[in-house]
Amino acid sequence: MNMNIREISIEEIKKKASSKAKIVRNIDSKTIEIRSLRFIGNIKVDLLLEAIENTINLTGKINTEVELECNRCLRNFNYPLNISVNNNFIKKGIDKTEGCFELKKEDVDNLYFQGECIDLLRNIREEILLNIPNYSLCKEDCLGFCPKCGIDLNCMSCNCKNNKENPFAILNTLIKEKEK
Ligand SMILES: [Zn+2]
Ligand SMILES: [Zn+2]
Repeated sequence: MNMNIREISIEEIKKKASSKAKIVRNIDSKTIEIRSLRFIGNIKVDLLLEAIENTINLTGKINTEVELECNRCLRNFNYPLNISVNNNFIKKGIDKTEGCFELKKEDVDNLYFQGECIDLLRNIREEILLNIPNYSLCKEDCLGFCPKCGIDLNCMSCNCKNNKENPFAILNTLIKEKEK
């Protein structure tokens, strides 16, 4: 039976063997719809849902690749996203203190939902957004542009680069001349 990932009901998971449901999908990135983000290929998800009382625990992996722009040289580059998820979806409106289940675990994100279902696609979308770096570099040692002449220092070098790297060179020669 194929579950609709936009409407995963806690009761549906409970009907399954050991109250667990595995979701292995290749999701078309168009269905995720994140503006200003270009996906390369699909979004592969390998997730396990486990229903415990009023909570759905979600664990597994989300793998995809996106195209980002380097903050230093403005070149586009491919950025693989390999996200490990561990979320607890807790059904809202139920007194949590009554349950005998332990929810406090620091590496687990607690999220709340209302009604009977969770929208797993929305969660996948949020996980992807959370894992996009604010400051992205095509490579760690990207040289970017020369602030003086604007040349891309990854492909070319310029003369102003030397001056920038050694701002005390002129000062040293001035001191030496004074000492003479
Ligand atoms: Zn770069
Ligand atoms: Zn320069």
